[in-house]
Amino acid sequence: MQIFREKALLQREISRLKLNKNTIGFVPTMGALHQGHLSLVRQAAEVCDAVVVSIFINPTQFDNLKDLENYPRTLDSDIALLEDLHLDLLLFTPNAAELYGEEIQAMHFDFGGIEHEMEGKYRTGHFNGVGTVVKRLFEIVVPNKAFFGEKDFQQLQIIRKLNEKENLGVDVIGCPIDREDTGLARSSRNDRLSANLRKEAAFIYQILLKVKEKFGIENADEIKLWVENEFENHAELNLEYFEIADSKTLRSENNNDQKSTFRAFIAAYAGDVRLIDNIALNY
Ligand code: AMP
Repeated sequence: MQIFREKALLQREISRLKLNKNTIGFVPTMGALHQGHLSLVRQAAEVCDAVVVSIFINPTQFDNLKDLENYPRTLDSDIALLEDLHLDLLLFTPNAAELYGEEIQAMHFDFGGIEHEMEGKYRTGHFNGVGTVVKRLFEIVVPNKAFFGEKDFQQLQIIRKLNEKENLGVDVIGCPIDREDTGLARSSRNDRLSANLRKEAAFIYQILLKVKEKFGIENADEIKLWVENEFENHAELNLEYFEIADSKTLRSENNNDQKSTFRAFIAAYAGDVRLIDNIALNY
């Protein structure tokens, strides 16, 4: 694996690869890598000749300074995990000045409304930060294909919109959610959970599975009430939101329109750790 801190050196290597008609896959991350991230890298390596992985904790997407400060920084073990894959990887680990220049600031985007749903309501400015960094990274790497996890499903749809609106020309590919044995969606934040809370947090996925069973039998309002009640009765977890939404518009829907595809989304706190998860309901 080659490691680049400077974009110019990375770009020189990518140009060399492209001269030989290699397709370039790209997996952007914020580090603290786990098997979920590695599943994206493996999928990228299956369909691309070379894969660029970036590790950059993007300051402009954090609405909460404490969350940014607490974000795990584990570059040495991240490198070891990537090396262990024995794939053709290029790791890009720029600092903020290398990526943003002098102004570390988010641009403002119009994502057609999906930015105002769910995460957008609770994390002000988050998707402008995500859009800014992904646009910048796409412009530097110019990948053929980029891989994002369905774990952050709303983010995946935001990136599809960004790609379309800004004519970035990247094939954006969504990858399935990788889970711990208990069903808890893998996340860099899981390491901050106590052993007990980590066990309890599997409740989020258990609820999503039950929602999937209920979907089509009960209406969305009934299901929502049921979920809220289940969380109220749970001693350790606090629900921030539950939504059933159209997978394209991400708007909450109360009809089971046969033509649309729907997903259920949860954000919940386990102690002070915020966790998100989602599931496809009718597809
Ligand atoms: P992050 O480092 O958290 O910004 O995540 C980088 C990429 O990994 C994003 O596209 C995430 O959606 C994806 N990702 C994170 N956790 C998982 C998971 N458990 N399964 C699949 N993809 C994931």
